[in-house]
Amino acid sequence: MSLYINDSCIGCTFCQNECPVMAISYDGDKYRIDPEICIRCGTCSEVCIMDAVEDSECPRPAPVPHEPEKRECDLCVVGGGAAGLIAAARYAEATGQKVVVLEKNRKAGGGGYFAVGLTPGNTRWEKEAGLPDTVEENVRSAMERTGGKLNENLMRNLYTSLGGVFDWLCTWAPVEECFQLAPNPWGKLGVTTKSERYGSGKFITTHILPYLRKLGVEVLTETEAVELRRSPDGAVSGVLARDPGGLVEIACPRCLLCTGSLIRSERIRVLVPEFAAAKPKRYAHDMPGLTGDGLTIAERAGIALDEDSIVMAFVGCMPVAFQQTAFQTGERGDGIRVNLEGKRWVNEKTDGKAMAEALLYQPQAVSYTVLDSAILESAEPVLPPPPGAPAGPPGGFPYPGGVPDFAVQRGEKMPGTRDAFRALAERLGHQTVLCGDTLEELAEKMGVDPAAFTQTVVRYNALCEAGEDRDFGKPAPFLRPLKEGPFFAIRNYLYLDGVFGGLDVNENMQVLNGGLPVPGLYAAGDITCGRYVNDRLHKTEVINDYSWAVAGGFMAANHMIGKTQ
Ligand SMILES: Cc1cc2nc3c(=O)[nH]c(=O)nc-3n(C[C@H](O)[C@H](O)[C@H](O)COP(=O)(O)OP(=O)(O)OC[C@H]3O[C@@H](n4cnc5c(N)ncnc54)[C@H](O)[C@@H]3O)c2cc1C
Ligand code: SF4
Ligand code: SF4
Repeated sequence: MSLYINDSCIGCTFCQNECPVMAISYDGDKYRIDPEICIRCGTCSEVCIMDAVEDSECPRPAPVPHEPEKRECDLCVVGGGAAGLIAAARYAEATGQKVVVLEKNRKAGGGGYFAVGLTPGNTRWEKEAGLPDTVEENVRSAMERTGGKLNENLMRNLYTSLGGVFDWLCTWAPVEECFQLAPNPWGKLGVTTKSERYGSGKFITTHILPYLRKLGVEVLTETEAVELRRSPDGAVSGVLARDPGGLVEIACPRCLLCTGSLIRSERIRVLVPEFAAAKPKRYAHDMPGLTGDGLTIAERAGIALDEDSIVMAFVGCMPVAFQQTAFQTGERGDGIRVNLEGKRWVNEKTDGKAMAEALLYQPQAVSYTVLDSAILESAEPVLPPPPGAPAGPPGGFPYPGGVPDFAVQRGEKMPGTRDAFRALAERLGHQTVLCGDTLEELAEKMGVDPAAFTQTVVRYNALCEAGEDRDFGKPAPFLRPLKEGPFFAIRNYLYLDGVFGGLDVNENMQVLNGGLPVPGLYAAGDITCGRYVNDRLHKTEVINDYSWAVAGGFMAANHMIGKTQ
């Protein structure tokens, strides 16, 4: 009898971090359970939203085919993630009416399960602490930063709802476990998430699912919505879905579309062929279910899409999931980044977003960070944060030194030296971290042309000697020649937060078709936020994507139940 992790694993690290006996490790490609260490406590299975932990002796039962099933409800929520679960609970609690949530994954939660930062603002806690209401200030600032292009009423509802949704959470969830009133990293007092590693998304998902059961909301997992039905007057009349056994027809007067990021959608693969050609990599933002179904469903139902709002949120050029030491060493910019042709392609000190945008146009969007022993020997090892360390910026970059490296177990010192990296490369079979005594040997392992690669390094060393990067303009302090073997390479991939936007909504999250609301149809979350979160890492966003989703679900439900925000 042994547990194993199947191919649905997206490398989120949750199981590894929660396993009480550290039986789970990462081998550079997949997470694995060591049967000799595992005590079968079930925690990994419980925390895994992909349901990727299986028992080799208890295979999953085959689906039982059924005739088309007919159901009725007052609200059908398509997508059981951040926005959908909030909306379902809010609506069911206020009306007592029948709500059905369709979720195509084996478990509900969506990308929302992983999100760290809900940044509420103007909550009861803040009011009790005597902090001023900042709704109007936030609206003004958002409008200014975006050149007045946004719907001002939507912004006002949004900022008001952020406080409202938190106050509402306080009525049924033990919010003190996750949130605190404390200075944020910029020194401003407000409601913040306590832990950087286990953020508000996991907290809300974990508590809202039992609450939904209590409210009688049906969450149908492994049930994928495929069609929105509209009556002759254009109003919503139902949703057609499919579960592993067959079709499910739902008659309903209201529908909320919240199917999440478009990162895996065919639409993006067609619009951006370079993205389609990029080498896929396992990482949690790239959840297989995030295929932009909300847009497909809306389009097929005759609703015009807001294509111009679609944005790809590039984050960086990063190693496989959570190789924190490797990541930070590469980020320092000391070494060089080469593509699969063995050529340098970027100023290594360019910020992550610009680098990702440039990486998109490199062969297969794959790059290696190349370092020599002298650089590695001078690298600071990355340590896990001490217990109780303060959370990073809400909605900011998700893992600032916070996640243990896969190469070592929790609490141990991280590798940061030549010998540790060599051992790491050997352990990983020279797949994601590679080591070679000579440049030629490293090139062979990287699968790039040794002559081209050597020429690149010779050219770079000459630029270092001259003290000026005439090729890409990297600042002089980071020009360190690659001379001392063994040499190392860390494989990097294109990293996106998600792909957002596509549906136009008004201030009540009603879907607009040609500028007019479609009766009974709402949308929230990633498929609506392209214009609002498009530059998160540069901080010109008006709100982070998770807060947008949570507030949007709440706003949609509030409008359905006739409440002002
Ligand atoms: C790993 C990760 C980390 C993140 N970290 C942060 C962060 O720190 N801060 C932040 O602001 N944001 C973060 N985000 C983004 C944030 O989680 C999303 O913006 C938010 O979850 C969007 O909410 P949503 O309801 O639109 O989509 P989701 O929460 O992704 O939910 C969409 C759900 O719809 C389901 N679905 C899709 N198609 C169908 C269909 N046809 N039928 C039925 N169900 C369907 C999906 O399976 C999914 O469960 C993170 C996302 C990920 C993946
Ligand atoms: S998806 Fe996450 S929790 Fe599930 S097996 Fe993979 S790393 Fe573990
Ligand atoms: S069942 Fe428990 S002990 Fe075994 S791998 Fe999972 S979390 Fe670790």
